[in-house]
Amino acid sequence: MIIAITCVVAIAVIAFILGVRPKDIPEPEPVSPFQHLDERKAAIYENLRDLQFEYRLGKLSDDDYQATKKDLQKELARVLAEVDKMKNASGAPATPAAPAKVVKPPTGFVCPSCGAKFPTALKFCGECGKPMRLAQ
Ligand SMILES: [Zn+2]
Repeated sequence: MIIAITCVVAIAVIAFILGVRPKDIPEPEPVSPFQHLDERKAAIYENLRDLQFEYRLGKLSDDDYQATKKDLQKELARVLAEVDKMKNASGAPATPAAPAKVVKPPTGFVCPSCGAKFPTALKFCGECGKPMRLAQ
């Protein structure tokens, strides 16, 4: 019974994967142009780690280790340069410039005596005639 259920589930999963996959990935291009470079970078880092690990285990000779490490570092430098180039070319900094917020102009100058508002600075209030600036 359990085996039968397992089989049914397995078939359902396979059918689901086969049924969903083709339309699930309509665009082969990743959303971010940096994604494949990031992946390559991660892969190189991983290779470097593995290399170091194997070297420590004594699986690699000094020469092999140095040569492979140099190759990987060269590859890494190339990937990093490519990322830089793309970033510069796109002109998009890490934080995309937010659309300039419309800064509301100051509501105007308010008469301290009556509260009337004026778009420009006045010596005397147009409403009540009292001096607009206390300093004067
Ligand atoms: Zn006033």
